[in-house]
Amino acid sequence: MAQNGITDSRFTQRHTSVTKSKNTATTQKQPNPTARKMAAQGFVDIAKVDPTIKVSLMYARADNFTGRILYDDLREAYLHPLAAEALKKAQARLKQLRPDLSLKVYDAARPMSIQQKMWDEVKNTGHSFYVSNPKNGGGLHNYGLAVDLTLCRLNGDTIPMGVKVDNMTRLSHIDREDELLKQGKLSREAYDNRRLLREVMRWAGWKPLRTEWWHFNLRTREQARKYFKVIR
Ligand SMILES: [Zn+2]
Repeated sequence: MAQNGITDSRFTQRHTSVTKSKNTATTQKQPNPTARKMAAQGFVDIAKVDPTIKVSLMYARADNFTGRILYDDLREAYLHPLAAEALKKAQARLKQLRPDLSLKVYDAARPMSIQQKMWDEVKNTGHSFYVSNPKNGGGLHNYGLAVDLTLCRLNGDTIPMGVKVDNMTRLSHIDREDELLKQGKLSREAYDNRRLLREVMRWAGWKPLRTEWWHFNLRTREQARKYFKVIR
């Protein structure tokens, strides 16, 4: 009886401590560590600056050019505060011209740890040209000063841009669009949609990239290195 009593109390004690640690785990929120890390470094969630901008991060899904999910936890689009404001401005301009459309963000700020992971995926492949090597300081996404995006309808459906985001062929080059249109490789609709995207982004201070219709920079690499900090 006494022995049973001891056993019982031990069991009860152990049981109590298990319950306690379980409670602690459930009362603690499960924050997204990557988002928290970026917020702590002063970067902002686009959804909080302009909730009308759609976000669907392509590296949080496997249907990106690597065929793998590269963002384990990140689902929000973060940017440098200046870039978030400039994106809000572009969305406002788009709403003036086409109230039936919205910007849709595919990728925004990217911490160097994720950049390293992406680089490791592509470094020995034909795709390495499209990813900045972290050893060279990364690219403007690593400063929260670049964004990949498209145009969509208010229900989130994207509109034609000729080729998908991250299409790594000349069909994505913006300096060949007149030629592509003449050759019938780019539809009139896609041609006009790309121009509209560039128009509203330029209006808000963003600069397009020659080789990717979806990529825009707010600053040059030189400016970023001199005046901004890379995301760790
Ligand atoms: Zn990009």
